[in-house]
Amino acid sequence: MAEEQQLNEDSKRNAGQMGAKVVPRGSKEISNILGDRRSSYNIDGVDRVVVDEITDQKLVGIPLIDKVVIILVVLFTLLVFINFSFTSNDAKEDPDIEKTLFITKIIELVILILFVLEISIRCIDVGPITYFSDLWSVFDALIIIASIVLIILDLNLEGDAFTTISKVLRGIFRFLRLFLVFRKVNFFNIIFEQYNQVKKINNAGTRYVVRSPVEKVIEIMRDLADQFEDPDIIKQLNWGITHISNNTVYEPIIEGKKSEALGWLYQQQQQQHISQDLKRSMSSDTQFPDESHLPEQLKLDFDQNILNLDYDYFSLFQKYDSSILTHLMCYYFQQESLFSNLRISPESFKKCVDKIALSYHKDNLYHNVIHAFDVTHTVYFFIQKCNFKEIGKLTKIDYSILLMSAAAHDADHPGLNNIFLSNTRHDLAMTYNDKSPLEQHHAATLFRYIRETDLLVHFTLQDFKYFREKSINMILSTDNAMHGKDYNKLKARLASNDFDPGSKDKGICFDTLLHAADISNPFKPMKNYEQWTFRVLGEFWHQGDREKELGLPVTMLCDRRTTNVAKSQIGFIDFMVLPYYNTLSQILPQLSEFIEQITENKKAWAEKIEHYQTLLNTQ
Ligand SMILES: [Zn+2]
Repeated sequence: MAEEQQLNEDSKRNAGQMGAKVVPRGSKEISNILGDRRSSYNIDGVDRVVVDEITDQKLVGIPLIDKVVIILVVLFTLLVFINFSFTSNDAKEDPDIEKTLFITKIIELVILILFVLEISIRCIDVGPITYFSDLWSVFDALIIIASIVLIILDLNLEGDAFTTISKVLRGIFRFLRLFLVFRKVNFFNIIFEQYNQVKKINNAGTRYVVRSPVEKVIEIMRDLADQFEDPDIIKQLNWGITHISNNTVYEPIIEGKKSEALGWLYQQQQQQHISQDLKRSMSSDTQFPDESHLPEQLKLDFDQNILNLDYDYFSLFQKYDSSILTHLMCYYFQQESLFSNLRISPESFKKCVDKIALSYHKDNLYHNVIHAFDVTHTVYFFIQKCNFKEIGKLTKIDYSILLMSAAAHDADHPGLNNIFLSNTRHDLAMTYNDKSPLEQHHAATLFRYIRETDLLVHFTLQDFKYFREKSINMILSTDNAMHGKDYNKLKARLASNDFDPGSKDKGICFDTLLHAADISNPFKPMKNYEQWTFRVLGEFWHQGDREKELGLPVTMLCDRRTTNVAKSQIGFIDFMVLPYYNTLSQILPQLSEFIEQITENKKAWAEKIEHYQTLLNTQ
């Protein structure tokens, strides 16, 4: 209990220093990594699959030692059987056999000494008390030591007065060495079983391929089209495929001349197409310079690291606090000449981004301004390093949408998820009728600041509507409850014949990029990934604690006492991040070369499962 209090104090202190590293402490590391992601996934099922596959791991693996031991076991088995096949009389009668037996005994002696070494290394690794807590390990050690003594006696006392005793002992220990062989072969099996399980875990992402009904429907319709020769039927089936893959199945088909009678329907359509006249009338001649006024040292730092996924930006927050987000955004806007091209005032821009940065709660361990920095940084990585600027045929306004939406996507996040807000009848849940209350609030907050700072006053109505529609959609798509549906829509579009990220599918690509950046922790090098894991974990501990205090059911994975951190991350990677990034690499082929990091991280977590299980068990 005292430890728990200490931990909570630590968490609060860390929360106060956003740039400070969150250091996990023993068993208290356990909590919800997936956080608000659970609402979109049957994590219950997901986690159970993974748990079932990996709970039987018994040995703490030391890979190099395991390999050496496997070779030694094979050699040792051979030698024991060679020894068994000859008697002492054979050796006396045939000097060649005697010589062979002598050599095998020497080799056997060396292998037994190596087994002693192996035991010593394992003792150092896990501690002698833990190692010898298994009585079989004590038994193995005794046989090995006794066998060594016996072989030494055997080599020295042959033909001597002790020969008879030696013979009896040799008989017993030969049998026991055979037993040792069986024990070692059993170890051999466990190693292979363990290896296969790790392989299973690593392949899980590809084994559990989730397909959506829409993909199946398109496939069936294509198969049907192949079976018909009538061009009318084929044309109609293709018409159906086009509407399904374009997600336009529920849009009205308006037939007939424009008239008052159909005016209500036409009115909605007209909203989508603002006249060019209005566009011109909103224009002005005001010009703005591309200035960022960044501290020189920081600009150099950005120049060097802005496209590196292992950028250690945590330290920047200790120096610049929340204004680091404003600096980053000014840097991007200057780099891309967005001030001059979009006629955005740098002063208004600075004010607006400052408001966004300050809206992030400093006492949130995860949903704070560093997370906003990280997500914006990742979106820019997709744009530049994975070439979305070319693939998506990005205009200047597109750049501004992607960057602003990323920076504001969690603005004024209270550090609690949508489920908690709904369960506690929070103001936001009441305002937005439980429909993605957080994301609605983040988007609304962005546009409130845009209006307050006159940020987009020089945009045409058409551009403003374009900016607003795309930004809102992007931010709403970060609600993980939408992940499943949005992902299936994306796959349906990718399966169509006319997927075009540079025009009609630009919007869905924008949504995908922001959502991918928002779940990008496993895509980062382990050092940063681990830091984010413990931050999200800490934030959800607090939610779980509050749920307990309020007598609410503790939301799944929010209970610090039951969640295995490593397993939940493996589930997160297998069922969410890896499939999503694999799909995203169909849009951004250059992403493929960076995806390996995700599987590497998964392996690293797989090796830590036992560690976290032990922590849970010892709580
Ligand atoms: Zn986020």
